[in-house]
Amino acid sequence: MFEASSYKLNMFQQCPRRYKFQYIDGLIDIYRKPRPYFTMGDHVHAALKDFMSTVPTCERNISKLEHLLREKWQRNRKGFTDKEDEKRWGEKALNQLRWFAQSQDLSVTPLMVEKYHKVELSTNISLAGRIDRVDQEVDGSLHVIDYKTGKMLSEPNQTQLHIYALILSKEQDLPISKVSCLYLEVGKFQTLKPTTADLDQVASYIIDLVDRIRMEREYSATPNNYCGTCDFLEICPNREEAAKLIVSEDEIDF
Ligand code: SF4
Repeated sequence: MFEASSYKLNMFQQCPRRYKFQYIDGLIDIYRKPRPYFTMGDHVHAALKDFMSTVPTCERNISKLEHLLREKWQRNRKGFTDKEDEKRWGEKALNQLRWFAQSQDLSVTPLMVEKYHKVELSTNISLAGRIDRVDQEVDGSLHVIDYKTGKMLSEPNQTQLHIYALILSKEQDLPISKVSCLYLEVGKFQTLKPTTADLDQVASYIIDLVDRIRMEREYSATPNNYCGTCDFLEICPNREEAAKLIVSEDEIDF
């Protein structure tokens, strides 16, 4: 059984060699490096998870959210170059949560929060993913929300959002009316309204891509804008070219 996920498929599309290092050679535990943007993103996600799932609606306010963030932060402070760097990322996280508390409906009780899903796509492919949040709309339909703590893309990542909708559609019968990325840095939603045809299309895309992955033999290293997030730069056969493409940490979408 091939276990597919949006992250894994996207990695293969960006760079087959990175995919090989991680999923075939199993080198990630040797080369993984802490990154400030992942540490910050994890803490923001964890604070929002607790806030929306364990804090009673009458106690939800910015102070509570900040308290949750500080609590998470103390548990893992890896990836920052120094105190100033940590402070900068901490301010970023706080600003994102402040915007959330000021602009979002805090009385919502989501149907699901940070739930890990694994469904069968075909007889030999499963599809897995953790979905940040699922709300039920007043008409009973579902709204899938993916929190983003990095740079906003000019267009929504259609494949990723449709994969989330596909996963959810295989688990329950309620219609999925919306799938959104919520960019916390700029306080904006990017929303798609997936149709049955969209979900069929993304299912075919996954099946074709898994076939390609199974047939792959070369695993070329293809330098791209995400080389800066790649833990395998030091063993990359194209590392000189890859190093030239590394963008500032503030330019990364994650
Ligand atoms: S550094 Fe870039 S080109 Fe090299 S393996 Fe990583 S993602 Fe691929």
